[in-house]
Amino acid sequence: MSTTETSTDTTPETAAQSAAGPGTETKPAETHAFQAEVAELLRLMVHAVYSETDVFLRELISNASDACDRLRYEAIAAPDLLADDPDLKIRIVPDAAAKTLTIVDNGIGMSRDELIENLGTIARSGTRAFLGKLAEAKDGTGLIGQFGVGFYAAFMVADRIVVTSRRAGSDAAFVWRSTGSAGFEIEPAGEADAARVARGTEIVLHLKDDATKYLEPWEIERVVHTWSDNIQFPILLVGKDKDESEKAEDEKAEDEKAEEPRQINSASAIWQRSKSELKPEDYATAYKSICGAFDDPAITLHYRAEGRQSYAVLLFVPSGQLFDLFDPERKSHLKLYVRRVYITDDATLLPPWLRFVRGVVDSEDLPLNLSREMLQNNPQVAAMRKAITGRMLSEMETVATKDPDAWAKVWQSFGKVIKEGFYEDPERRAQLLGLARFTTTAGENRSLAQYVADLRENQTEIYYLVGEDLDRLKANPKLEAAKARGIEVLLLTDPVDALWTSLRLDHQGKGFKSLSQGDVDFDLVPPVEEKADETAKDAGAVDEAAVIAAVKLALGEKVSDVKASKRLTDSAACLVASGLGPDRELERILSQQNRGSGAKPILELNMGHPLVKVLAGGSGEAERSADIALLLYEQAQILDGELPDDPAAFAKRLNRLVTRGIGVG
Ligand code: ADP
Ligand code: MG
Repeated sequence: MSTTETSTDTTPETAAQSAAGPGTETKPAETHAFQAEVAELLRLMVHAVYSETDVFLRELISNASDACDRLRYEAIAAPDLLADDPDLKIRIVPDAAAKTLTIVDNGIGMSRDELIENLGTIARSGTRAFLGKLAEAKDGTGLIGQFGVGFYAAFMVADRIVVTSRRAGSDAAFVWRSTGSAGFEIEPAGEADAARVARGTEIVLHLKDDATKYLEPWEIERVVHTWSDNIQFPILLVGKDKDESEKAEDEKAEDEKAEEPRQINSASAIWQRSKSELKPEDYATAYKSICGAFDDPAITLHYRAEGRQSYAVLLFVPSGQLFDLFDPERKSHLKLYVRRVYITDDATLLPPWLRFVRGVVDSEDLPLNLSREMLQNNPQVAAMRKAITGRMLSEMETVATKDPDAWAKVWQSFGKVIKEGFYEDPERRAQLLGLARFTTTAGENRSLAQYVADLRENQTEIYYLVGEDLDRLKANPKLEAAKARGIEVLLLTDPVDALWTSLRLDHQGKGFKSLSQGDVDFDLVPPVEEKADETAKDAGAVDEAAVIAAVKLALGEKVSDVKASKRLTDSAACLVASGLGPDRELERILSQQNRGSGAKPILELNMGHPLVKVLAGGSGEAERSADIALLLYEQAQILDGELPDDPAAFAKRLNRLVTRGIGVG
């Protein structure tokens, strides 16, 4: 890296005394490599398309704002940290001559170690997940604009970045430099730099040639309005007003103009304002700047609680995708403020199954000096959590009733998370089941209320089938008898479905019942067409006992039992779990984690099927009967999305049967 960029440190006439302490002796800058994931992210930044670059400023402003929030929080316990410079603010300084854009905050700042850690690795799980998605996407450039990538987004517009930072209360400042390629350099700040950055962080972006539009004041204002208007701290635009300066004759007058910073955001706590004065656009902007979102909110909930506790709530349900939904921590990300001071986004103000909800809760009553650990057990917080959860749910119910399409979309995105509440929150279960929408054999976005309203005569249970893939479920033979009787079946494909259904819940007095488990008996429900009945009659003609004996003999230990089926009309065979054990899909998931019960399935046979009937005759040799029995078992496995136990043997057996023929037509 060239040495010219340190030129500003070396002006000896600066009056400021060295504030940087002993670290300032000239000593070569240390070089560090970027973590591999960062390097990958940076490579992508280089290819960002023009329309996406705006977000870099939003990311840097959001970091500056976080830094101010953190300082204000630490200063509650240590007021000295704020003392000499109490007005927290963010400054943006375009310099057309130098082609630099500088973002400065007087927040918490970073120590040397923090610079290395924070600006050299990726800590956020969301960004990691984002990278995963990018890897899948092949051409990921279109995704950058939709998801924040944090500090590194600055490399979309800059080919060189110099960060000078001083941690609040520290007597040393450090400089971090990078061109975004292999790594970065770090060294103690020179005298002038250290004097200029008395607390907080200064980020100098050396703009790429195609990014110089960000030097224009109106361009900066546009981006700030769009993405950062609700940042709590004043954002000041420092620089020349071009038209004015062109007119100015006197150079000094021009210089004075340059000194006058202008606030370009509203810096108001929008959640404190009354609902009646806010428009949907205001909420959309607030959502973007408060929650760092790129989409528009699908649901907005804004209210003020008064009474035993008073607090303001502004919550959003995203309309876009979220990448950290299945992060193992399952944290909710609501921001907790106490009397306008940001405290934490870690206060679990919503249960994990609402972790996709974003927004702010601002309490008037909580003590400011409450430590984050104490928050976990605070009864006031617990009461807020309960009340906020209740409000959010009733808002969701309102949307579901008034705008079913909008709710269907929300459910599409987050239903798989809300379903966790079915088993984690028994108190809310009925309400959550009411909000649920299902793909069923009767259509999409079906509610349980619709299901129950459309129950067939004598039908007393809610039937479902769990699997990984919708198309495969739709083709599953276990649906046949239900279909013949016009019985609707829920087709469940989310990973959590195997779990909650194992609790054997009920809804409106109707139990949930799996079609791949236990005995299903549709006999009381009349068939839609006569055909189904004929099949049943046909079945009576077969010597069931002989068939079952032959198949049991061939399958041995592979199955726990062989039975005549009441759920098949067209297909020959299917595998089900016993009524007492776990559903087949749950058993499959559990055994992948070596937690399976080891329970063997039951093979059910359609006694009316020609392939099954052939087993009853007792004619033909034993080897052929065994082949057919095994084939029935294996095709049932395949229909459930499994592989036959021994695929090679399966193929051989199939070939043998096809070549010889089995004598049925
Ligand atoms: P995120 O903000 O989601 O943590 P970023 O990539 O935007 O991710 O920033 C990484 C980290 O760098 C931040 O978490 C913070 O610790 C640190 N950081 C970035 N900018 C600043 C700043 N202006 N002041 C203090 N710390 C900062
Ligand atoms: Mg950030």
